[in-house]
Amino acid sequence: MSVWAILVAAGRGERLGTDQPKAFAKLGELPLLAEPLRRLDESEWIDAVVLVAPPGWEEPAILLAEELGCSKVRACVPGGATRADSVRAGMAEVGEEAAVVLVHDAARPLLPDDVVERVLAPLSEGWDGVVPGLPVSDTVKRVGSGGAVVETVARDGLWAVQTPQAFPAGVLRRAVAGSGEATDCAGLVEAQGGRVTVVRGDARLLKVTTADDLARVASWL
Ligand code: C5P
Repeated sequence: MSVWAILVAAGRGERLGTDQPKAFAKLGELPLLAEPLRRLDESEWIDAVVLVAPPGWEEPAILLAEELGCSKVRACVPGGATRADSVRAGMAEVGEEAAVVLVHDAARPLLPDDVVERVLAPLSEGWDGVVPGLPVSDTVKRVGSGGAVVETVARDGLWAVQTPQAFPAGVLRRAVAGSGEATDCAGLVEAQGGRVTVVRGDARLLKVTTADDLARVASWL
């Protein structure tokens, strides 16, 4: 069974407040992208990697992969205007032999290999997608533009969902075939009636959005 990973790294990262795209913000000595790329490349569960770089940053991304000694990177393509467009660009490079595709956000650099194992396992039970997540522990409120609370959302059954997300290759191919939009890949699969299950995620899979997140992830490295 051939498992391909798409690493989406094409976000601009405006909330980070740096000049470069988020994937090239420094995490320790190296660009943030180095950490998830190295971890995917070294994972015993992954056979091939497609890198989706910020448009115009393909060459530095390839050089970084070479510098890290990555041996599984099969393609590096520019991303699109939205995350779904970037996944579409990556999916176009996934080989026909792929049985499973795993999509991961470069903005979640600290990818534990046991999470990769956990999201792959339920696919043999016939699920159309598997996502890692954590039950929401805070009280969740919907807030209007002026800062006024509109409602308190019932917390029962609410999970905060992370990446990597795993799918049978054919299911993800069909899900990205149109021009659908969603904030994660499972959303595209669900929109087509796909059955998606959640496994335990990991707090270290924090998504780097702000400079504070970057500092926190750096301290965990
Ligand atoms: O913007 P958001 O935080 O949802 O981004 C999640 C992941 O998707 C990040 O790793 C980011 O680089 C990627 N992304 C992308 N192309 C976009 C927007 C986001 O590859 N147009």
